[in-house]
Amino acid sequence: MFLLFPSILFAQDKDTVAMRYSRIITKEDLKGYLTIVSDDAMEGRETGKDGQKKCADFIQSMFRSFGIPPYRDNTYYQEFPLDIVKPTHAEVSINKINFIANKDFYNYPGQSEQQINSTSVLFLGYGIDDDKYSDYKGIDVKGKVVMILSGEPFRKDSTSFVSGKKDRTKWSYYKTKPDKAKEKGVSALLIVVDNVEKDVADNKHRLESESMKLEGNTIEMPVIYISKEMANAILKKKKIDSLKEKILASGKPLNLVAKTKIEIGIKSKIEKVNSENVLGYIEGGDLKNELIIVTAHYDHLGKSGDVVFNGADDDGSGTVGVMELAQAFAKAKKDGHGPRRSILFMTVAGEEKGLLGSSYYVQHPEFPIKNTVCDLNIDMIGRQDEKHKDNANYIYVIGDDKLSSQLHTISESANKLYENLELDYTYNDVNDKNRFYYRSDHYNFAKNGIPIIFYFNGVHEDYHKATDKVEKINFDKMEKITRLVFYTAWELANRNERIVIDSDKK
Ligand SMILES: [Zn+2]
Repeated sequence: MFLLFPSILFAQDKDTVAMRYSRIITKEDLKGYLTIVSDDAMEGRETGKDGQKKCADFIQSMFRSFGIPPYRDNTYYQEFPLDIVKPTHAEVSINKINFIANKDFYNYPGQSEQQINSTSVLFLGYGIDDDKYSDYKGIDVKGKVVMILSGEPFRKDSTSFVSGKKDRTKWSYYKTKPDKAKEKGVSALLIVVDNVEKDVADNKHRLESESMKLEGNTIEMPVIYISKEMANAILKKKKIDSLKEKILASGKPLNLVAKTKIEIGIKSKIEKVNSENVLGYIEGGDLKNELIIVTAHYDHLGKSGDVVFNGADDDGSGTVGVMELAQAFAKAKKDGHGPRRSILFMTVAGEEKGLLGSSYYVQHPEFPIKNTVCDLNIDMIGRQDEKHKDNANYIYVIGDDKLSSQLHTISESANKLYENLELDYTYNDVNDKNRFYYRSDHYNFAKNGIPIIFYFNGVHEDYHKATDKVEKINFDKMEKITRLVFYTAWELANRNERIVIDSDKK
């Protein structure tokens, strides 16, 4: 009896406070809000468009109805300026001969306006970094026009030069070539591909899409995908195929300088637009200078003709989860149980365009970054993936141990005490090829040294399709996950000590 007594008290204590307010979060409310957020009237909530603004207005009106006052100057909005970059073809000439876009070469939109003129092109075989397949070591690539072969070199026995294995799926390698080149200060990167016209057909949508960025970002290195004929024009007497054969036969890297006059012109057509993050700020008590942030993105893909991408799961589910959490904490505060630390419930825009709203926030934080304890980010919590098709009682937890082991412990114990979900850490593995850790808004906080948790149900057959609709949402599941976030936030906001940053597993 004596031993049991304190734990009973503890349980009763929870029952009267945290548990009571967790019950404000209900599947009925979640369904009601999500039915509005994912309605056709919201037109797919594309950043900068009317539907997104309509949804912002709905969220702010709900924050107001929960009794949350505007966070400053009578507003719930943090507005941010964006550039819509229209697709334009690059202009490329070699020794004064103009080449033709989408036949001889192609480039993706989003590159900033610039003119690059050079009298030489540096050929670096397959590589741009100091891996064993490239011997550019000691060669200064800074400010130079660099040409490389696409893909990965394979030996005659079809083992890879890079991995030494018969493995043709080293996808991360393909992605990193332009990144590496940018990092090294290359002025323009030419990538020789096997078939320009096929690539253009395969990537038609991306090539013709507008892209969006925060206003006034820095100049991006152009990346131009060129045909073998164009490569031969650059090399003059040499032929790209024979250089390729030489590399593959010898198993050794190769580099050379082609004395060729090349001119690359990128023109950009930009349209200005504004978007807004919607902020529901609940001021804390004795520790109010410290801040917990809870985020979800309310923007989605918009519409294509008459087809609306409703984005019920992505990320209508997280959006209404944040709204319910705000309501629960607002009610607790009204009743005299407000959080000790302040909490910012922030639905952001621009996620689908490249995490732009959260990126803007961390560049222009409304509350000091150094006082920001953590970010709990919810992106898709209403569905099940293939792996869990027979078990709704799960959620992927990503990133919780990357900067703070305490955050992981708090998340685990909140789950054990209250919700008993299966916390699946599959995607927390740094080697996971999906790289989800880098793919939602929490990452902008993590980059700034703020511990995060990312709650995610995994992708499913309706992911990024017009069929991501409210009828397919499991609201029992959503209620449980939202309550798990509630208990985790409750502990983070009310514990004596701010969680410490004690690890670096990025
Ligand atoms: Zn999303």
